[in-house]
Amino acid sequence: MERDKLKCSECKKDVIFEGNPYFPFCSERCQLIDLGAWLEGRYVINGNEGETGDAGSSLSKEDSEIKKGEI
Ligand SMILES: [Zn+2]
Repeated sequence: MERDKLKCSECKKDVIFEGNPYFPFCSERCQLIDLGAWLEGRYVINGNEGETGDAGSSLSKEDSEIKKGEI
């Protein structure tokens, strides 16, 4: 089976499927890096990506308020 050969898209380490709350990332750190990158991109694509919207929706409201304040 190839399914346990997935690589983390951030650090390219092997990603464990089972018991991994950060899947498809290897760790919380990589997940946060990717989420941050996605939130940045969200302002460009205007939330047009439904794939990760579920996990980030609760965070994105607060984050957008913070970013508005900064800009
Ligand atoms: Zn990683």
